[in-house]
Amino acid sequence: MTQATLAYAAPSAKAPLAPFSLERRAPGPKDVLIEITHCGVCHSDLHQAREDWGPALFPMVPGHEIVGHVTAVGAEVSQYKIGDRVGVGCMVDSCRTCSQCDAGEEQFCERGFSGTYNGYEQDGRTMTFGGYSQRITVDEAFVVRVPDAMPLDRAAPLLCAGITTYSPLKRFGAGPGKRVAVMGLGGLGHVGVRIARAMGAEVTVISTTEAKRGDAAALGAHDFLASRDREAMKAAAGRFDLILDTVSAPHDLNAALNLLRTDGTLVLVGVPEEALPVQPFAIIGRRRRLAGSLIGGIAETQEMLDFCAEHGVLADIETIAMADINHAWERLLKNDVRYRFVIDMASLGGSAG
Ligand code: NAP
Ligand code: ZN
Ligand code: ZN
Repeated sequence: MTQATLAYAAPSAKAPLAPFSLERRAPGPKDVLIEITHCGVCHSDLHQAREDWGPALFPMVPGHEIVGHVTAVGAEVSQYKIGDRVGVGCMVDSCRTCSQCDAGEEQFCERGFSGTYNGYEQDGRTMTFGGYSQRITVDEAFVVRVPDAMPLDRAAPLLCAGITTYSPLKRFGAGPGKRVAVMGLGGLGHVGVRIARAMGAEVTVISTTEAKRGDAAALGAHDFLASRDREAMKAAAGRFDLILDTVSAPHDLNAALNLLRTDGTLVLVGVPEEALPVQPFAIIGRRRRLAGSLIGGIAETQEMLDFCAEHGVLADIETIAMADINHAWERLLKNDVRYRFVIDMASLGGSAG
């Protein structure tokens, strides 16, 4: 039987989110049904629902930082049982046969992965609906285990913010002896600081918000660079091996590139709605590299959760009720969150009747 499920959806790019009901599929042989306890609010939710990145699918139920408990499993499910604490991130399926899927890089699936929302299942027809909802049915291959040591609410943001920062930090060599800067201290950035620190790097926060200086230190950063302070930016030229750019809005990439040492890399994970012009000399001068990174694979997401559990890395959250989501989105847009909104899904039953 399908599962009648309460949710919140954006009816269009201009309208506020409102109560919505949908049917989750009955678990197939390899599916698990997850009762969602919490869902993080990623800036990508807002970008997509507001069509910052182009046309989107409506009604849209956002949310790809999903945690909860398994409440039913299909006959062939081997990794999970009822009661398990699990998570779902930005993907719910992929082709599973291409070279990228074979390599565990489902995020680069040649046929296109199925996004948790604003996308289609692999049949190309069935719209996906995300985690701003009571429950979700997902193939076990796209479910990860939340380690026992982690509280579910503070673990939720790791399903996107965690993997999106862990994957490039690891790939581009954050570790002992490396000077790593995390630019933009928001949902992604604050988790990125903790992960880079846990990897053993020397970490600097680059921020437009002077008031975050103290938070940066509390998160484990060794240094803080105010990107609006011209003198400080000049003095920091050529300093970093790696910059993780998590900024959500248009910004000056060249000023950031200038902070890299010879052969240093700036890896872009933030996705502002506009192109970011690159001045050739900003990369040619010191053989710098400009790279990008998109979330991470499923096995790597599990690896990230285990790493975070081992090193005590969690998100700093502000818990909200589902009915407060529109206000939370307004605040997110104004850079007024320390550092991730997480929806307590228990609040949905009451608010949506
Ligand atoms: P967020 O919580 O809103 O954080 C973004 C941070 O960017 C802010 O805290 C702020 O940091 C900085 N910022 C905001 N406006 C700025 C401006 N006008 N100029 C300079 N800095 C500004 O967002 P998030 O959830 O961390 O997401 C960050 C970005 O990553 C979004 O674009 C999101 O879509 C993208 N994303 C990408 C992936 C991927 O796979 N590549 C995955 C998830 C999210 P300061 O106050 O410190 O300056
Ligand atoms: Zn996200
Ligand atoms: Zn594939």
